[in-house]
Amino acid sequence: MAKDYYEILGVPKTATSDDIKKAYRTLVKKYHPDLHPGDKAAAEKFKEINEANEVLSDEKKRKQYDFEREHPGMGGFGGGEGFSGFAGGFEDIFGDIFGGFGGSRTRRETKTKGEDVTIEISLSFLDAAKGCVREVVYSRNEPCASCKGSGAKGGTAYKTCEKCGGSGQVQYTTGNGFFRSVSVRPCDECGGTGRKIIDACPDCKGKGYIKNNTKVTLNIPAGADTGSYLRKVGFGEASRNGGPAGDLIAVIKVEPSKIFRRKNFDLYVSVPVSFKTAALGGKVRIPLIDEVMDYTVPEGTQSGKIFFVRGKGIKTARGTGDLYIEIVVEVPAKLTKEQKSALEQLETLTDIKQCPQMKQYRDNMETMYGKDPYSK
Ligand SMILES: [Zn+2]
Ligand SMILES: [Zn+2]
Repeated sequence: MAKDYYEILGVPKTATSDDIKKAYRTLVKKYHPDLHPGDKAAAEKFKEINEANEVLSDEKKRKQYDFEREHPGMGGFGGGEGFSGFAGGFEDIFGDIFGGFGGSRTRRETKTKGEDVTIEISLSFLDAAKGCVREVVYSRNEPCASCKGSGAKGGTAYKTCEKCGGSGQVQYTTGNGFFRSVSVRPCDECGGTGRKIIDACPDCKGKGYIKNNTKVTLNIPAGADTGSYLRKVGFGEASRNGGPAGDLIAVIKVEPSKIFRRKNFDLYVSVPVSFKTAALGGKVRIPLIDEVMDYTVPEGTQSGKIFFVRGKGIKTARGTGDLYIEIVVEVPAKLTKEQKSALEQLETLTDIKQCPQMKQYRDNMETMYGKDPYSK
């Protein structure tokens, strides 16, 4: 069974990193082995607390833990609670950055939901930023169409199970003359379906499902990021006993871009600017998601300067990110004689001590060493 690290630290799932730190400190003091010599339970508790803290205090590990808790069967931290299905039709539900969905709960029904199927969708940086439609084909046990998943010919060639009266459950008693308890278990006669097939469906041989390649269209919204996922209700594995099919979970992986970096919906772009443009100011061309924008850098722009432009990041239904432009001044290289002499001339015309960065640097050095190290 997977451990609930939130429960161990006694914090809600929405706890901030400060909440976690506080809870951890309190518990670690309380269960420290020095205070409970020879107490195995306390030692075990102490170990658990440290384990929980190690994951929850690390933003990256915590994110992964949360994700895997909601996706049992994806490996890593292992099991978790079962999913509660979504009532209603087949809608796309987008997870992670687009907000989760309701809590999960364990079901105890005789008709079990089929397993979820997880696939990975690789998207280019631009497709993920703009949103796109992807048609994917994957293999699953598809509910048999000709018998509607019942396994009975035409979907009707079955009768009510006599043993359980159609409920799919039977009562049984355990214990001896003194202690008796009545329990309920799935009916073994009908496998919990409550009905018995008279005539098996020829297409699926009575199983109710067929291994098939399923084609599905995924509408990926603008702003999808690595780790976000789409859930297609009912597109997972067919149930083995007449319950609803599981879901398809398409996990997004975004390929890096050579132009952009992103953080949530914000875009970061490094733009090379000529020495002349940086010195005199001028227009530079800035790539955006679906256009190229002119941006005027002011006179005297230094290399490494970052300009902020509100609302020019990734546009999504959940809001629009901002743009950060980093200026990289290109220093001329491989110069001709003529160019070199022009630069020499520029240097003689420039009082380098009056350039603000140089002046600041020299002042700092002087404060530190008591003299300007450039003056011999
Ligand atoms: Zn039965
Ligand atoms: Zn069938």
